[in-house]
Amino acid sequence: MHSAGSPAEWADWRWQLRNRITSADGLARHINLTEAEREQIERAGAQFRWAITPYYASLMDADDPSCPLRLQQVPSAAELTDPLGMADPLLEQVNSPVDAVVHVYPDRVAFKVTNVCPTYCRYCFREYFVGSSEQHHTRDKVQAGIDYIRRTPAIRDVLVTGGDPFLFSDERLDDLLGQLRAIPHVKLLRAGTRTPCTLPQRITPELCTVLSRHHPFWLNTHFNHPREITAEAAAACDRLLRAGVPLGNQTVLLKGVNDSVEVMTELVQRLLEIRVRPYYIFHCQLLAGTAHLRTSIEKGLQIVSALRGNITGFAVPTYALDTPYGKVPLAPQYLLGRAGDDVLVRTYDGHLWREPNPLDDAEAVEPLAAAPEAAVADATDATSYR
Ligand SMILES: *Cc1c(COP(=O)(O)O)cnc(C)c1O
Repeated sequence: MHSAGSPAEWADWRWQLRNRITSADGLARHINLTEAEREQIERAGAQFRWAITPYYASLMDADDPSCPLRLQQVPSAAELTDPLGMADPLLEQVNSPVDAVVHVYPDRVAFKVTNVCPTYCRYCFREYFVGSSEQHHTRDKVQAGIDYIRRTPAIRDVLVTGGDPFLFSDERLDDLLGQLRAIPHVKLLRAGTRTPCTLPQRITPELCTVLSRHHPFWLNTHFNHPREITAEAAAACDRLLRAGVPLGNQTVLLKGVNDSVEVMTELVQRLLEIRVRPYYIFHCQLLAGTAHLRTSIEKGLQIVSALRGNITGFAVPTYALDTPYGKVPLAPQYLLGRAGDDVLVRTYDGHLWREPNPLDDAEAVEPLAAAPEAAVADATDATSYR
């Protein structure tokens, strides 16, 4: 729905940004809102910044209030009742040696260069940061981040993030990546950006030329629902891939958006069709205002168990819970434990298998815990080489 703007304007990322939707009246030009919804948008929108690109709004179902794209971006009164949620669940502000850098892992950092995004996701764990007034970090703060990385030789991998770093101009991004590339111990550059999904117009040939100057440069983007994989999004990913940028995807597990086997299967299969490798499914953080979007970890495990084995192996992302101490993979149990000289495992479709696995004392490893007796009883000789 090109409700305003010529096709050339629509295709221009700066036009999309200038014309972002930030009021109920503006949104009502794209989707049908009841009086109650308008009131909720005004009330919840005052708590946490919101903005939606006309492009992303055009993908929403105009008549369905539970449209999975609307649930991600449109403020709702449900945000105002969340007894458990916190402002900064990952304690990032504690883990920041300088304002712009989050340093949790030994060899890599997250470098937040801006707090501006094309659209603000309702479940953003950096709400504490992007919620304040919009600005790219000052040159001083970015410079302090670069200086920290330069004087910390253990850092070999810099994840440029935000906000959305692709809202930098090409020149500023080129300068930033160039300065990081000039640090001898920094081997890997990567960025996290949702622009291929929410503002694919940003992925211009000129931007791709800039990125290709700073290889190895990797990129993770953020699609949550198969309906976001449009012709424009696919073309943006294709331009990045042709510039030699490997693409991964980070999805957030969200109730009503993608918390079903069917939707998640379609999402990861469509991602492979546009040559984007599913990397993580993040469990939704315990973030203020997201109670209505959070699922249980059991629900996430059920979904990833259903993916494993039934679809292409590399379509299955790692399901992870992020904590102030790092990301924790959440995996269904395939390794049941030791049964004498065997190890007992379970295949994706529930078969038990006994793998002969005598312990070699010389290896000095901790033996696995014993498998549950019920599983051992079920694993007959027919499920082994013997
Ligand atoms: C997620 C994250 C990274 C990158 O983690 P990978 O598992 O290597 O993708 C680095 N630093 C911080 C603080 C992070 O949250």
